[in-house]
Amino acid sequence: MKDVLILADIEGSSGCWDYAASAFKTDAWARACLEMSLDVDAVARALCDHGAGRVVIQDFHRTGYNLLPELIDRRAVVRSGYRSGPVPGVGHPGKCRLLVMLGMHAASGTPGFLPHTLTSRIDAVLVAGKLVSEAELFAAALAPYNLRPVFLSGCPEACRQARRDLPGIVTFAIDKNVDPRRFDVLAWRRRLAEAAVRAMDSARGQVYPLEGPVRAEVVLRQAGREAGRIASRWKLECRGDRVIVEAADMADLYRRLVHVCYLTPLAKTFLPLSIGLANLRGRMGLTWARRRLRRWGYL
Ligand SMILES: [Zn+2]
Repeated sequence: MKDVLILADIEGSSGCWDYAASAFKTDAWARACLEMSLDVDAVARALCDHGAGRVVIQDFHRTGYNLLPELIDRRAVVRSGYRSGPVPGVGHPGKCRLLVMLGMHAASGTPGFLPHTLTSRIDAVLVAGKLVSEAELFAAALAPYNLRPVFLSGCPEACRQARRDLPGIVTFAIDKNVDPRRFDVLAWRRRLAEAAVRAMDSARGQVYPLEGPVRAEVVLRQAGREAGRIASRWKLECRGDRVIVEAADMADLYRRLVHVCYLTPLAKTFLPLSIGLANLRGRMGLTWARRRLRRWGYL
């Protein structure tokens, strides 16, 4: 049996067509939560129907509370919110060995649809002169647990980057340049699920090779002030608009970038409390979205 971990993001899902839909507590976001849930359900259902063992779905966008579990196949386990533990956000991936990334976006500094790496405050994360995507960081973070990245969906640029950085991965694109009103979401979603099943069956993706050490240049959008603040906060080297993050390997780089992007040293000290408060905010946001969707007659 193949146990599968699905990391679910919203930018490359079928309900997100502009920035507002990826934001928090906007009408567009509430609708995007619905479509994202249906995308994830289609894939989870198809994987379960075609021989997957345990399917664990980690909501991995913004607050970690975007998916509506009531719309997702009961055989899958939906994990909302974030956990501390060996893999930031995910906690421990358990026995999952196949990694599926849905609704992904391209790296900061690249064309793509709403491209960013961890946060829009970052203009670029460079390792050895190459722009690093979240897909690469996630694959690296899960490599110590032998998860093989087998499938990714997202905009064509996100797919291209994944195929370059994660050899053997199967990708399935969503064209974000079309008029969403003319987008045949049901046909697209069916093909997405079929592609995911084929990817699970062939499972050609390789565990990300962790090599080190790595040295990342993190270019901040607000040049100068923010770079200096982050560098002094985390005792990092600062060079103009960028901070230098040294790490043992790409998995360690992911961990360090999560600290730099989302935490302060104080919040890191009280991590369970910090995560608990963030998850509470996320849960309240999703309750807000659910109420809206009910009022509009979608639920
Ligand atoms: Zn996202």
